[in-house]
Amino acid sequence: MGGLIDDVEAAFAGFGWTSLFEVAAIALVLWLTLRLLRGTTAMSVVRGMVIVVLIATVLARVIDSAVLEWMIDNALQVLLIVVLVVFQPELRRALEHVGRARGVRAPIGARQPYRDLIPMVSAVAARLSRERIGALIVFERQTGLEELADSGVRVGAAPSADLLSSIFQPGSALHDGAVLLRPGEVLAAACILPTTAGGHAESGRPPGVEQLHYGTRHRAAISVSEQTDAIAVVVSEETGLISVVENGEMRQGLDAAALEQALSRLLRAGRGRAGGFWAPGRGASERSGGAAPAGS
Ligand code: ATP
Ligand code: MG
Repeated sequence: MGGLIDDVEAAFAGFGWTSLFEVAAIALVLWLTLRLLRGTTAMSVVRGMVIVVLIATVLARVIDSAVLEWMIDNALQVLLIVVLVVFQPELRRALEHVGRARGVRAPIGARQPYRDLIPMVSAVAARLSRERIGALIVFERQTGLEELADSGVRVGAAPSADLLSSIFQPGSALHDGAVLLRPGEVLAAACILPTTAGGHAESGRPPGVEQLHYGTRHRAAISVSEQTDAIAVVVSEETGLISVVENGEMRQGLDAAALEQALSRLLRAGRGRAGGFWAPGRGASERSGGAAPAGS
């Protein structure tokens, strides 16, 4: 521990104008890198790696472990190459983004980045429910959905009720698959979401009976909410039921007002997946089924 304090003191003793420029330059490089990686799943991995390396470094200093320090020193060199190889697609996409100016993201720190979109999506879902038109709408949160957008057709347009409902009309070329939304933008349509066999991926919980009878659209919604922190809204073509899914848990049978309320709560800025909207102890049977489709 004394070594760590000595190191910090020594670092501050030699701190001058040159050091200030060095710190500013490093901060700028880091900021630009993070900006490039924003909106990709690589971001979460990078964040995880930084946390592990930081904890290991502090631990190595605190317990004064030469072995741990040796491992970190060697791992850091290899890690740089690993990052370049593993994240090659993300880095390529991030560099592509540099050339494409986009000012559609919600300002960082906005309390409700989807404020304008929530009532619009709720009304569209209710309309589609009445018309028995199937729909799958995914709201991006912290985890970037760029890879999923690549599976469909990029739209990149300002969201409107007419645009959303026309996408899902059965005759439309983009009606099959999911629409991805991010604040202020319809990111993509006709996206194919990776589906799992069912069950709760993170907890290892086996699929519940109610989950096994879901069709592919509902399973896709459950999977995307398990694999990312996105929130999915499903309108069933068969039953007209409107569902909202967070973290693999589906709540069915919402009307426009209930959907708007649920989305407002779930999509509040800074809200992680940890605090789901299901009250603790509620059974799966209470969460699903039962209610009539909106408007009927
Ligand atoms: P519904 O209640 O509307 O019938 P469902 O859950 O029973 O939905 P299906 O009947 O199998 O599911 O719905 C098929 C439609 O769901 C497809 O035409 C497609 O639009 C959508 N879909 C299915 N799988 C995916 C997927 N992996 N990603 C995105 N959309 C999908
Ligand atoms: Mg079906």
